[in-house]
Amino acid sequence: MTRKLTPAARKSAPAVTTRVPEPKPQTPLDLDTERFAAIIDEHIADVRIKIDTVLADIREVTAAAKDTPADDEHDPEGTTVSVERANEMSMLAALEASLAALLLARVRLDEGVYGICERCGEPIPEARLEIRPEARFCVACSAAAKRR
Ligand SMILES: [Zn+2]
Repeated sequence: MTRKLTPAARKSAPAVTTRVPEPKPQTPLDLDTERFAAIIDEHIADVRIKIDTVLADIREVTAAAKDTPADDEHDPEGTTVSVERANEMSMLAALEASLAALLLARVRLDEGVYGICERCGEPIPEARLEIRPEARFCVACSAAAKRR
């Protein structure tokens, strides 16, 4: 599961640079990357199950809607079905967004740039990452972003 980065592979990159590259924020050294890989994978699995559930619900609602006459606009049940369907669709969109965020977090972890606030560059507290492993900002920066 864990991808090993051989030092030799890293050294094969051209060593001569005319400019000193910008220091890239690095995963804090004391961060247990294997533990967070497991946490992220757990969240990904969890979201995938939720997506499957919502998709099944949408199929069910769609199938139920087919049974009701399409031309009956005053059917109160028809309205319920479309509202329900809209709710399921927005739930699905939210789940897909969090799945994407988690997959990106996994990439950052593999690239060694995980757990650093993208705004202030400070390490994101592990307690926060445990709850929201996809977090890209520390609590303060996340709150500041929301106020804007
Ligand atoms: Zn920050």
